[in-house]
Amino acid sequence: PLDTAARIANLFGAQRSEEVVHAVDHANLSIHSGEVVGLVGESGCGKSTLGRMAVGLHTLSAGTRWWKGADMAQLSTAERRRTQLAMQMIFQDPYASLNPRMRIQDIVGEAPLAHGMIAATEQKDYVAGLLQKVGLDPALVRRFPHQFSGGQRARIGIARALAVKPELLVCDEAVAALDVSIQAQVLNLFMELRNELKLTYLFISHDLGVVRHVSDRVVIMYLGRIVESSPTAELFVQPNHPYTNALLASAPKLEVKKIDFVAVKGEIPSPLHPPSGCHFHPRCPHAMPRCSVEQPLLKEIAPQHFSACHLNDAT
Ligand code: SF4
Ligand code: MG
Repeated sequence: PLDTAARIANLFGAQRSEEVVHAVDHANLSIHSGEVVGLVGESGCGKSTLGRMAVGLHTLSAGTRWWKGADMAQLSTAERRRTQLAMQMIFQDPYASLNPRMRIQDIVGEAPLAHGMIAATEQKDYVAGLLQKVGLDPALVRRFPHQFSGGQRARIGIARALAVKPELLVCDEAVAALDVSIQAQVLNLFMELRNELKLTYLFISHDLGVVRHVSDRVVIMYLGRIVESSPTAELFVQPNHPYTNALLASAPKLEVKKIDFVAVKGEIPSPLHPPSGCHFHPRCPHAMPRCSVEQPLLKEIAPQHFSACHLNDAT
């Protein structure tokens, strides 16, 4: 059986002004060691919030974060800090997250130096080695971020995350800002690093094509809830949840088998006031009376394939 690297259970809540936004509502997400989990949904569905919760950048109003069987809240400060380094986040816009006044050597070498993983005299060589690992010329350690292209900056962002020797990388739309050809190169780098460094990934994207390319398992979110989780190959052949069907139908380039795709009606509702029962009911072509009153829970409908839809009880 797989050892579970990270698990965040029954999370919810994010306070925004006076209103409580259930950005993530009772989502239970587990990621196994060495696994690549793709997290997909429309913007505003809570996938970034869930990713930030996973790495501890977003406080939980309730719920538990687990790392290798340990409840993070129970760890000592020193243990928590060490565990925290094992989870790193890679953001969409590498340029915005790279200090323009710092040299690459300092940007990438800052955290390992601060955490006592390297000595100041080792920083230059350490960073040069990381640049090589991400496919950049190690001779460029003294340059500034503006001297690199978008794809190169993405690689610098990856080198910075790798600098503290993480085990889990949470990539939030990590290739979304790049040209398609560069996207493919960076995705390939992620997969090479996965094999070389035995990394685990949570790959957050609105792009089903990207997620299909890299993930072992895909998790679909809608308005703060996980509605389906499936091995990747199966999801694209036998999606179960009507929302997943709608997402696949709206991505014609994926060349998925067209089953009974029905275009979804209406706009995504505000997460401030999510619909009752199944959040998807106002837009669902299969909605039944119970859908507006009763929240469907995730059920295993095939091995390792979970879906939250009342249609699965109909038989
Ligand atoms: Fe549609 Fe009902 Fe299933 Fe929700 S529970 S996806 S409304 S059929
Ligand atoms: Mg986002």
